[in-house]
Amino acid sequence: MNSKTQLQWQSHSVRQHGVDDMVLLSKISEDAIIANLKKRYMDDCIFTYIGPVLISVNPFKQMPYFGEKEVAIYQGAAQYENPPHIYELADNMYRNMMINHENQCVIISGESGAGKTVAAKYIMSYISKVSGGGHKVQHIKDIILQSNPLLEAFGNAKTLRNNNSSRFGKYFEIQFSSGGLPDGGKISNFLLEKSRVVAQNPGERSFHIFYQQLIEGANEDQKSRFGITTLNYYYYLNQSGSYKVDDIDDKSNFQETMHAMNVTGITKEEQAQVLGIIAGVLHLGNISFKEAGNYASVENEQFLAFPAFLLGIDQNRLREKLTSRKMDSKWAGKSESIHVTLNVEQACYTRDALSKALYSRIFDFLVESINKAMVKDNQEINIGVLDIYGFEIFQKNGFEQFCINYVNEKLQLIFIELTLKAEQDEYMQEGIKWTPIEYFNNKTVCDLIENKVNPPGIMSILDDVCATMHAVGERADYTLQLKLCVRVGNHEHFDSWKQGFIIHHYAGKVAYNAEGFCERNRDVLFADIIELMQSSDIAFIRTLFPENLNTEKKCRPTTACSKIKKQTNDLMNTLMKSTPHYIRCIKPNETKRPRDWEEGRVKHQVEYLGLKENICICRTGYSYRRVFKKFLQRCPEVKQHDRGAEETAKE
Ligand code: ATP
Ligand code: MG
Repeated sequence: MNSKTQLQWQSHSVRQHGVDDMVLLSKISEDAIIANLKKRYMDDCIFTYIGPVLISVNPFKQMPYFGEKEVAIYQGAAQYENPPHIYELADNMYRNMMINHENQCVIISGESGAGKTVAAKYIMSYISKVSGGGHKVQHIKDIILQSNPLLEAFGNAKTLRNNNSSRFGKYFEIQFSSGGLPDGGKISNFLLEKSRVVAQNPGERSFHIFYQQLIEGANEDQKSRFGITTLNYYYYLNQSGSYKVDDIDDKSNFQETMHAMNVTGITKEEQAQVLGIIAGVLHLGNISFKEAGNYASVENEQFLAFPAFLLGIDQNRLREKLTSRKMDSKWAGKSESIHVTLNVEQACYTRDALSKALYSRIFDFLVESINKAMVKDNQEINIGVLDIYGFEIFQKNGFEQFCINYVNEKLQLIFIELTLKAEQDEYMQEGIKWTPIEYFNNKTVCDLIENKVNPPGIMSILDDVCATMHAVGERADYTLQLKLCVRVGNHEHFDSWKQGFIIHHYAGKVAYNAEGFCERNRDVLFADIIELMQSSDIAFIRTLFPENLNTEKKCRPTTACSKIKKQTNDLMNTLMKSTPHYIRCIKPNETKRPRDWEEGRVKHQVEYLGLKENICICRTGYSYRRVFKKFLQRCPEVKQHDRGAEETAKE
């Protein structure tokens, strides 16, 4: 830290950079909130409180106040002793957990590029620094910290909105002994955007690992073994025209990825196999098809050899499985298998489905490996950090944006239910004089998306179309559009448009393009392809496809929607069981430049994040609340007869 910034930081408590806690604003209006955030931002103060909620504005530059000195300052300090900081929130969680012996969680929300992942990493590193050690504990800490670069390599990508955008959601539970030592952990991951493996929007990239491994990472031996040439040689990478990202160093990141694999106990052999499959996926993408009569044949046979070699499968079988499919047919009461040939579109679909399955299973393998390395038998107390993909609006929004925005909608609902609604409800219930504060409750939008029946929501209607229509492609997507209009067309947060439908999300209206919805929701991997991979002579690949095809044929396949809905609702239940903390991240501009403040963009976020309502409720409500039992635990001097009274009192 240079002396000037050090001085500036030290002087925070004496010099006023707007107000630290916006509950103290003299006038509460959206303009006043924005002016305060702007003033602080321009003074390099990125954090501001609204009571216990932390607002963080992305500075797009490294701030000087994240060193050892700050760790020491915030450790054990009360909230208002120091300027607002994420370390304060992290410290508060840790102390709360220790004192009350209760699980804590932090919900980090904000749109894509607002700084959620960076915030999550600061929290993890702070907790790791203040929570004591020992050899085993240090090992767990290393895994916790190293899991970040590893999962980012395989799960993050450059998008138009963020050069390091998370394309999966993650809930990281750091588990502690009752003495407060981190001695275990568990990651739950959510819906990886695997379609990115086979195609990206112009100007975007696929997952970082492809570029790390291909351009920079491989040595000569690997290059010849994996068939590595230039990036534009691979169809899966050359469609978007984006290869290099200014602020990303693929070469050193590759070293870090490999180091992280070592730390998390992934063996050298497994590492080589993972890299072999990544290369195999790229080579699969180069297999193209031509129309021969009414069916597809492989355009250039020589492109079959490399993927077959890398995946340990027979080249002829690969050709056969990409261009034909076994189907069960019933004839005169007997069932028999017949081979049907695929057309070019179906063959491309099958090839891409295999690539996506391989990639997402590798990702699950990595998460599982990290979890295995951190596993702990007896659960005591934990701190959960939720970092998911942020709300997204692109020019063209597909099924992926629909799922991502749904999860964000649910997180907003949790925030509303726990901070805006529950608090007000409590005052009402207890008969405390209270003037209700209006806020937008997005439960109606969540219902529009996820309701099962009465009336069914968009996901149910989509599942219904997928179950009843066997055709994929345009016809199914068009049917979906029609059914949506009929069944939810009157909903106040729904509109239809030429190419799909519009949802009025809490964070803005998003026009979804219905094209591809049914296919992506069905997400079928045909039995032939699973069989093909189970025939691999690489044992590692066989373990990635453990399905028992005889039993699984009979049940109805789960759709992508039902999976994400279940995962999200499980997550909500977990969060509800912990004491929640909130970080609301704000993205001040679209240019990704420091000190660039786009007033309109910030205003929009301040509005939809409900900051004004949040301040009003914090200001009018009681600043300190404890249930009797907890209060008495902390005040042992309270006399016995008071305890008796407490037992009869309602908590
Ligand atoms: P997504 O939803 O797309 O994953 P995100 O909210 O996780 O987005 P981040 O990846 O955390 O966004 O942040 C985007 C970029 O902004 C970072 O790569 C970094 O360059 C910059 N950034 C964010 N927060 C900070 C910070 N506290 N200090 C410095 N730079 C930051
Ligand atoms: Mg992120």
